[in-house]
Amino acid sequence: MVKQKIIIIGAGLSGSLLAIYLAKHGIGVDVYESRGDMRKTEISAGRSINLALSDRGIAALREVGLDEYMLAEAVPMLGRMVHAADGSTKFLPYSGREGEYINSVSRSGLNIALINEAEKSAGVKFYFNEKCVDFDCKTGEVLLENTETGERKIIKADTTIATDGAGSKIRDAMLHGGIPRFNFSQSWLEHGYKELHIPQDEKGDFQMEKNALHIWARRKFMMIALPNFDGSFTCTLFLAHAGENSFEQLTNEKSLLAFFRANFADAIPLMPTLIHDFFTNLTGNLGTIKCFPWNVGGKSLLLGDSAHAVVPFYGQGMNCAFEDCRVLDGLIEKHSTNWEMVFIEYGRLRKENTDAIADMAEENFYEMRDAVANPVFVRKRELETKLEQTFPDYFSKYSMVTFREDLPYSEAKQRGNAQDKLLMEVCAKVKDTRKIDLTEVMEKIKTL
Ligand SMILES: Cc1cc2nc3c(=O)[nH]c(=O)nc-3n(C[C@H](O)[C@H](O)[C@H](O)COP(=O)(O)OP(=O)(O)OC[C@H]3O[C@@H](n4cnc5c(N)ncnc54)[C@H](O)[C@@H]3O)c2cc1C
Repeated sequence: MVKQKIIIIGAGLSGSLLAIYLAKHGIGVDVYESRGDMRKTEISAGRSINLALSDRGIAALREVGLDEYMLAEAVPMLGRMVHAADGSTKFLPYSGREGEYINSVSRSGLNIALINEAEKSAGVKFYFNEKCVDFDCKTGEVLLENTETGERKIIKADTTIATDGAGSKIRDAMLHGGIPRFNFSQSWLEHGYKELHIPQDEKGDFQMEKNALHIWARRKFMMIALPNFDGSFTCTLFLAHAGENSFEQLTNEKSLLAFFRANFADAIPLMPTLIHDFFTNLTGNLGTIKCFPWNVGGKSLLLGDSAHAVVPFYGQGMNCAFEDCRVLDGLIEKHSTNWEMVFIEYGRLRKENTDAIADMAEENFYEMRDAVANPVFVRKRELETKLEQTFPDYFSKYSMVTFREDLPYSEAKQRGNAQDKLLMEVCAKVKDTRKIDLTEVMEKIKTL
């Protein structure tokens, strides 16, 4: 067989992992990345500083032998530490079972490790400062522009996979005439986000419980904090862009401190650089992108955020993109390099699942923001923990999404929503979860 060559556009999280997978099939891979080489330049890896890596992502890393390496510098987060407005805290475990937790990892650390590993594979080459500016859906040609010299060139391979993220240029070409009746939707949340910082204490230790995702839920807005391996935390403030309690209103030191004193008073002493960080760091947008089809015959495929960007409230965007790579790998095993067949089946298998996680991620925004401050929800989490401790076959919706790499997202959504509705009804009727008959609840769950 003639050796195949694939172009990957984008050396982010999914592009770098995909290069490793493809090289294992003996396929030659050229990866073009618009930014400089993050191993050599002090550039931020992009959006968030750290991210939650969970079972679906770990499963994909395991298949290329990188799971243990990546987890060695991760901080396990065993549950949510909810910070009430009065400064009190309550820990809500993610699961009642041992070993079911999520991991805070450095985005740039992960990305660099993936690029390094991909580069070690035979036939993989990375080209940095090479930006895709157009794609010809008829010929499969990619137009690149060097971001330093402005030089343009056209490249072509057996096929091109677009892992160029939510602003994908290849998707743009499909949308703007490349594919007739291409379905595309983009919906922005009224909330944006800003990253803030809690440093280590003088001894280099964590200033708050390290094995938790901290959350200050304030109904219309919220702040979260994920631990970093070095003892610091990265906080993300999610706030409306405009209107009451919004970024638009926090225009100076006085308004910012008044807002923090009223809502996150316990966090202020931990954040010595709050004012500087707030007024220096960019405010990001949050949106969901859905589109279909994802392929142009056998010439091109969208994968990861380029095909399905989701809001970050289930901590699944990267995990889902890694799962994409794993599913594609299985289809290459099945159909070899018949790209059109691989891509069509890939879309058929993946679309309902990526739609499901997109919907659940939006729903979880409201759960994190409103529900963790709602006593019925807090009781429901307690009940779920008890059910998980008592029945090995009980999984909450969160657990199905986060800890069940064997369960498609669409099934997690359908089963999880039915279960959530039932448990909220049960918990609305009692003030104390000890009064709930667990066996009776489990019997009802089995009938759903
Ligand atoms: C605030 C925030 C928090 C998040 N937290 C989590 C989390 O906890 N867990 C989780 O699983 N997910 C999380 N996500 C989602 C996650 O970041 C994305 O789903 C993931 O990065 C998608 O990977 P990707 O490779 O598809 O795209 P990206 O990581 O965006 O990579 C795209 C790459 O393509 C390059 N590129 C872009 N345009 C071009 C071009 N024209 N030519 C060449 N190269 C190009 C970019 O420079 C980049 O390197 C979070 C997202 C945000 C915004």
